[in-house]
Amino acid sequence: ITQLWAPLHFLGFVYREIRHSLADMERMFTLLNVGAEVADRPTAQPLASRDVAIRFDGVGFGYDAKRTILHDVSFDIPAGHTVAVVGASGAGKSTLSRLLFRFYDVGSGAIRFNGTDVRELSQDSLRAHIGIVPQDTVLFNDSIYYNIAYGRPDATREEVIDAARSAHIHDFVMGLPDGYDTTVGERGLKLSGGEKQRVAIARTILKNPPVLIFDEATSALDSRTEKAIQAELLSIAANRTTLIIAHRLSTIAEADCILVMDGGRIIERGTHRELLAHGGRYAEMWRLQQEGEALDA
Ligand code: ATP
Repeated sequence: ITQLWAPLHFLGFVYREIRHSLADMERMFTLLNVGAEVADRPTAQPLASRDVAIRFDGVGFGYDAKRTILHDVSFDIPAGHTVAVVGASGAGKSTLSRLLFRFYDVGSGAIRFNGTDVRELSQDSLRAHIGIVPQDTVLFNDSIYYNIAYGRPDATREEVIDAARSAHIHDFVMGLPDGYDTTVGERGLKLSGGEKQRVAIARTILKNPPVLIFDEATSALDSRTEKAIQAELLSIAANRTTLIIAHRLSTIAEADCILVMDGGRIIERGTHRELLAHGGRYAEMWRLQQEGEALDA
C-alpha cells in the first residue's frame, strides 16, 4: 500500500506546487493589468549588455483597435539616466511601463534597448534586466521571506536580509511574530502601503536589474514614509536606467528629463528648471501642488 501511496503523494505535491505557481503568475498578470499576449520570435536574441539605453521611437498603441491610447511617443533614456513622466490620470503613463516590460507590443513605431527592437529580444532576458516597483504591490500569501526572495529565488538568506536592510524593512520584519517566516498577504498579516512598497523595493534590490521602473503610488503615504521611500528609490535608481511615473512632482525635481503627457501625447519635456521657466503645463502643475502643500501644512 505504501508503494501506491508514494506516487500519489508525489502527485499531490506536484499539483500543489503547480497550483501555487499558476496562482502567482495569474496574480502578477492581473495586478499589472495585462494579458500574456506576446510571444518570442524564433529569431529572438538575449539582451547582451547590462548598460541599457532605452528609446521610444514614434510609439503608437491602443489596448484595442477602437481606441488609440498613445500617439507618436518618442523619447530616450540614456544608460544610467532617469526620465520621469507626469500628467493627468488616464494620460497613458502606466501604459508606457507596460510596453517597456513588453506585456503588449506597440501598434506602430518601436521600443529599442541599445538599438535593438524589443520584439527581437527574448522576453526572459528582457524581463531579467528590468525591475518594477509597482503602484500597488500585491503580496503573495506566503512568508515575507518568500515575498522578498521572489526577486531572485536563488539568493542566499544573507542576501535576502541585506536587501531588506537596504530597503529599511528589516527592523520591521524582526518585530513581526514569526520574523521572516510571518505569512503576509490577503490571508496573512496585512501590511500598510508603505511597508508593501518597501517589500517591493527589497525585492528589486535583490534582483539588481540595470533597468528600473517605478510607478509611484497614487494614494498618498504619510509624508515621512513618502520621503523615506523617495530617498531609498533615488539611491537604487543611481546608475540604473530609470523610468519614474510620478504623481508628486517633488519626487522628480532631480530627474535628468521630465516628460509631461496629456491624452497619450508628450506635450512638454525638459528638466524641472527648464519646464518651470517655460511656464506651461508643468509650471502650472507645480504651482498647484505647492499651493496644495502649503494648505496641508
Ligand atoms: P493614472 O495616473 O491614473 O495611473 P495613467 O496615465 O497611468 O493614469 P494608463 O493606466 O496608462 O493611464 O491608462 C491610459 C488609458 O488606457 C486610460 O484611458 C485607461 O482607461 C486605458 N487602459 C488602461 N489599461 C487598459 C486595459 N487593460 N484595457 C483597455 N484600456 C486600458
